[in-house]
Amino acid sequence: MSGIMQGKRGLIMGVANNHSIAWGIAKAVAAQGAEVAFTYQGEALGKRVRPLAAELGSDFVVPCDVEDIASVDATFEALRERWGTIDFLVHAIGFSDKNELKGLYADTTRENFSRTMVISCFSFTEIAKRAAALMPDGGSMLTLTYNGSQRVIPNYNVMGVAKAALEASVRYLTADFGPNDIRVNTISAGPVRTLAGAGISDARAIYAWNQQNAPLRRTATIEDIGGSALYLLSDLSRGVTGEVHYVDAGYSITSLPSLDRLRK
Ligand code: NAD
Repeated sequence: MSGIMQGKRGLIMGVANNHSIAWGIAKAVAAQGAEVAFTYQGEALGKRVRPLAAELGSDFVVPCDVEDIASVDATFEALRERWGTIDFLVHAIGFSDKNELKGLYADTTRENFSRTMVISCFSFTEIAKRAAALMPDGGSMLTLTYNGSQRVIPNYNVMGVAKAALEASVRYLTADFGPNDIRVNTISAGPVRTLAGAGISDARAIYAWNQQNAPLRRTATIEDIGGSALYLLSDLSRGVTGEVHYVDAGYSITSLPSLDRLRK
């Protein structure tokens, strides 16, 4: 297969099923010739991820729970043994207790604050460090964020705080790795109906609000996000690093919501 990712190999973390944002990205890069390795969290998801990987011609599928640093190390050891080097990394991982993705942010517990930060933010730093060690000729890293980092979105609560820290991590990692020609970017995706998305209280209402009020009058699909990720992971974006790139059908630029309904 030929394409702009021909000859490139990378790791995609965060496929849970065929609705996952990571799956949209995997399809886009594989269609352009990339070889992809996948991780999954726990055997229940492994059963879903292996056949998906096979659809893209990959049998490189390894377990990884980012709360367990030994499994992160084992993932990168597997990459080093099988491929030696990689060209790109996708981190599409987030978690918070859904009991705290509703109500007041002020009610966040210390335990869930720490766990959310480790899984949704710090894991990217730990993983980026290990990925950079496998990128002697440069590379591209990507993580996923949401506009709840910048603005108050009902119920997003501690995830918004974690995403703000994740975006700041992207900037610091950009400075760390830039001299080695390694780029680090993040896509700020609009709401997508995924397992993680469903954990946020009133997710359906937030999704519908975005559909009605985004300039494009829809929400972004995993294929839309995959297309933008392809650009950021390929050499087409070789001068772009440290960026928060919005793929949200334009919603984040709006102030007054759409007046369509008021005009009726
Ligand atoms: P998803 O549920 O399909 O993917 C989330 C992934 O995180 C799953 O594969 C899950 O296994 C993984 N994960 C959670 N805890 C983990 C752990 N301890 N170790 C390893 N993996 C773990 O949902 P998604 O919406 O595709 O989420 C992907 C990323 O996109 C997340 O960072 C999410 O915050 C972000 N995002 C989602 C939306 C949305 O509306 N769905 C919007 C913007 C950003």
